[in-house]
Amino acid sequence: MPRTATVHTADHGPVTLTCPPWCRTDHTQQDGNHRADLVHEGADVPFVYAGHRLLTAALRAWPFDETAARRPVLAVDLSDGWHTCESPAQVRDLANKLLAHCGVLWSLADELAAVQDGTNRSM
Ligand SMILES: [Zn+2]
Repeated sequence: MPRTATVHTADHGPVTLTCPPWCRTDHTQQDGNHRADLVHEGADVPFVYAGHRLLTAALRAWPFDETAARRPVLAVDLSDGWHTCESPAQVRDLANKLLAHCGVLWSLADELAAVQDGTNRSM
């Protein structure tokens, strides 16, 4: 049976939400919000390097928002704000860009190794 939650909104009174299976939101924390701002949120999936969270992705859906897509999106926090991937193709594009960035890091590691070898030889 799907989980439901009743939120006491500022503009529409009590609103009962039926959560998708992936929703982890404690909707009692959304009391007082406008109905359009009610959001289902999935678990955060962080990309962490050396203790720094570079990005975080999470499923999201705003079931009453008139301006945003009501279907679930993958929201990605790129440290300067959330970006939404509204289709699997956009999520795959993001994955490809991360893989490409890994290649950049490998090149920089090779460059660093070459520079360090040169420094060691000159000492
Ligand atoms: Zn929910």
